[in-house]
Amino acid sequence: MTLFERIIARQIPADIVYEDDQVLAFRDINPQAPVHVLLVPKRVVPRIAEATAGDQSLLGHLLLAAPEVARRAGIAEGGYRLVINNGRDGGETVPHLHCHILGGRPLGWPPG
Ligand code: AMP
Repeated sequence: MTLFERIIARQIPADIVYEDDQVLAFRDINPQAPVHVLLVPKRVVPRIAEATAGDQSLLGHLLLAAPEVARRAGIAEGGYRLVINNGRDGGETVPHLHCHILGGRPLGWPPG
C-alpha cells in the first residue's frame, strides 16, 4: 500500500481539504508555501509517466477538481500553482500520482 493509499483508507491521519468518489486532497505535511495541498487519485497511478489511456477520465477529473480544492483552501483569488513531480530528477518521493497545489504568496519562477 502506498503512503497515500493509507491516508485515503484513514489509516494515517491527514488534514483533508476535499474529497469525492475519485480523489482526495489533504495538506502537505512539509509545506513549501503558506498553502500546500496534495490532490491524489484514489485509484493508484504510480506517476504520470505510467498513466495510460484508461486513466484519461480519472486524470481529467483530478485536474478539474483542483480549482475547487484551491477555493476551499482560500487561494483561488490570489492564484496558485499546480505541480506534478515525475521520477528522480523531478523530485518524486511518493510513487502514487499527486498534484501539488501551492499558493498563499507570490511564487518564483523558474523553480530552483
Ligand atoms: P513528491 O516529492 O512530489 O513525491 O511529493 C510527496 C509529498 O508528500 C511531499 O511534499 C511530502 O512532504 C508529502 N508527504 C509525505 N508524507 C506525508 C503525510 N503523511 N501527509 C501529508 N503529506 C505528506
